[in-house]
Amino acid sequence: MQVDVVQLQAMFGAIAQAMEREKERLCELDGVIGDADHGIAMELGFSAAAKAVAALDASSSDPTAVFNIAAKSFLSAVGASSGPLYATALMRAGASVKEKPALSDDDMIDVLEAMAKGIQDRGKAEPGEKTMVDAWAPAALAARTARDEGKPLATSLEAAEQAARKGAEATRDMVALKGRSSRLGDRVIGHMDPGAASAVVLIEAIHIFFSDR
Ligand code: ADP
Ligand code: MG
Repeated sequence: MQVDVVQLQAMFGAIAQAMEREKERLCELDGVIGDADHGIAMELGFSAAAKAVAALDASSSDPTAVFNIAAKSFLSAVGASSGPLYATALMRAGASVKEKPALSDDDMIDVLEAMAKGIQDRGKAEPGEKTMVDAWAPAALAARTARDEGKPLATSLEAAEQAARKGAEATRDMVALKGRSSRLGDRVIGHMDPGAASAVVLIEAIHIFFSDR
């Protein structure tokens, strides 16, 4: 089944709802090793994106337009460092499906990969540096691997969610080498990176969305 603009609008709505539900927990995580605003940033960003995306006329828009407007509104809504990181992720998602009127299951895997790569290109973080990359990079790889093995989209996204969760858990043992918490040295050990935690929330929301479809 193809993913059209109407479905992408609903997907952004589901992501925004998930961020709203997890807002407090994400702020608490950021409170320990950052400035306690990560949940607010992600909730604000995705609610602005979902609202802008919902306002598009589905009959005259394509998936690239959806991701581009989501990127733009995320960037304007978020002052924290997650703003440009997710704006780049969403722009790259749009570029990866250019000129397609609707998306196949393979295209959705491309979208996930493009987002992960966009975050890495923008923030220059490598896996192991206690950032959202520690959830995104293994998630994209797991989705691609599952899909290459012939798994359906929902199963591939389930693999992505599991890999993201494992990656986020592993950030507890890491010292932060990028972003605000890199100033705290060993004090961050034992605590999960909030950006990795919100990546799990996002990928889980996408997984659930495509399982229920
Ligand atoms: P800020 O640190 O400006 O308050 P947020 O609280 O919204 O921004 O986001 C913090 C998260 O951003 C971190 O937990 C980390 O996952 C992510 N992050 C910070 N710098 C980078 C980077 N260079 N590359 C990837 N992710 C990063
Ligand atoms: Mg913060």
